[in-house]
Amino acid sequence: MLLFTTLPSKRSSVRVSMLKRWTAVVCSGVIGFSAMAVGHAAEVNIYSARKENLIKPLLDKFTEETRVEVNLVTGKADALLHRLKSEGKNSPADLFITVDAGRLHRAKASGVLQRVSSKALNQAVPAHLRDQEGFWYGLSVRARPIFYVKDRVDPAQLSSYEALAEKQWRGRICIRSSSNIYNQSLIASMLAHQGEKQVLGWTGEFVSNFAQPPVGGDRDQIKAAAAGVCDIAIANTYYFGQMLSGRDQAQKEAAEKVSIFWPNQSGRGAHVNVSGIGLTAAAQNREAAIKLMEFLVSEEAQAWYGEVNFEYPVRKGVAISPALQQWGTFKADTLNLTELGEFNQDAVKVMDKAGWR
Ligand code: FE
Repeated sequence: MLLFTTLPSKRSSVRVSMLKRWTAVVCSGVIGFSAMAVGHAAEVNIYSARKENLIKPLLDKFTEETRVEVNLVTGKADALLHRLKSEGKNSPADLFITVDAGRLHRAKASGVLQRVSSKALNQAVPAHLRDQEGFWYGLSVRARPIFYVKDRVDPAQLSSYEALAEKQWRGRICIRSSSNIYNQSLIASMLAHQGEKQVLGWTGEFVSNFAQPPVGGDRDQIKAAAAGVCDIAIANTYYFGQMLSGRDQAQKEAAEKVSIFWPNQSGRGAHVNVSGIGLTAAAQNREAAIKLMEFLVSEEAQAWYGEVNFEYPVRKGVAISPALQQWGTFKADTLNLTELGEFNQDAVKVMDKAGWR
């Protein structure tokens, strides 16, 4: 269900205001602005690691409804966090949007966020999808299931992430590098559930089943599986959705060769993570920023935000898009995602010990 079909996606109040008032500059890979406005009650400034098209229509809608102007700076997740840290209390940003609870935890740990206490946020976002102390809130849920090549794998052979360590999968698995936070968070979730000894044993066997040394991103794993390099790939579902619906014919054909298998359905559930938002420690427009956070978890915003990137809403009772419905319902792990951040360092160590490059 797409509620925002009439959004003014071309006529952007955000963009117009930015062009009028700021000179764009480029610094350390981040598009920035020489003078981001601060201090006015009717403005909110955002640093976002999400691409503009995944967020701006919602910000325009918010401006339309509240007359609060929203200024958006987009960039790479790690570069934006670095920038927030180096700007410190002088940062013009009120809000930080990024992906993966591991990264949100890093932002909290590095002191660039502040606690928010909001009944609306706490009611809309289930407790396991937000920081326990209110430093960040999930905005959308992303799942990281198993993909199998339909021609070569009988899904009856699949059951859990753990079962991918079995000998039958030797040389048949594609997954990206251990430097990637999505994989670190997957292993962190296992550590939270099972403890180090068990996870280390599993990871060693799993790594010996890799078809090739990890290379590329999630889409590349699906492409490699389709090309016959491997039979199993691990990837986030929104990449699969983008491949199926995008203009790149080769990617579409690759994605059509694989199917999703939802693992661990008789146990803890498939691994999920979030994109999320936090109020910066430097925020000068606190009230308006919290209002925007609350808007982003409203029913209307959640339906659109999930749909635009093939993600799932954080808010219960919001319908999922037809594309996602096709992939079936699944049981998701309800581990408190704060733990993904807390176990991140241990996950990196375990992956290193297991020889996961
Ligand atoms: Fe991603």
